[in-house]
Amino acid sequence: MQPAPCRPAELPATFDAVTDADASKPNERVLVSACLLGEPCRYDARTSKDGVLLRELAESGLAAVPFCPEEHGGLGTPRPPAWIERTNAANVLDGVERVVTAAGADVTAQFVRGAEGALAACKAHGIRRAFLKERSPSCGVCQTHAAGRLVDGPGVTAELLKRSGIEVTGIEGRR
Ligand code: SF4
Repeated sequence: MQPAPCRPAELPATFDAVTDADASKPNERVLVSACLLGEPCRYDARTSKDGVLLRELAESGLAAVPFCPEEHGGLGTPRPPAWIERTNAANVLDGVERVVTAAGADVTAQFVRGAEGALAACKAHGIRRAFLKERSPSCGVCQTHAAGRLVDGPGVTAELLKRSGIEVTGIEGRR
């Protein structure tokens, strides 16, 4: 399966395709970043609730399975902001790169555990598609944070899901 192309945030042309394609599959489950669904699980204990996404999921008959990789990985909420130390998520998964907080703490294991948990959730629910919060070091699809700044490329969870054949779509949130 080809990964979903990166598109500018404000909303997915892909989403219309998903809506059309799944009219006959009302019970399809999709993984969704929990913060997009209203969970206050962001690093700053806020939510990125996206009313447009909620409505479109409902209209499409897609059942959202909420998941927060960073909470699953054992990081509390609130938590310090973190980013890929220098390069990219692929290197994190390959064991040659770290994820660090602003204070320099190594949270690589928690980020990888969270990504693995997301993949396990997809397998448990028969999920083939995920809608993930853009720009997160875990969930970002087209953009993430590395070396303390916004960069092109996926976060750790998005990278693992893509590697595993899950189609991922980035959602900006807060609409
Ligand atoms: S972007 Fe992902 S890791 Fe961050 S709060 Fe939302 S669900 Fe959790």
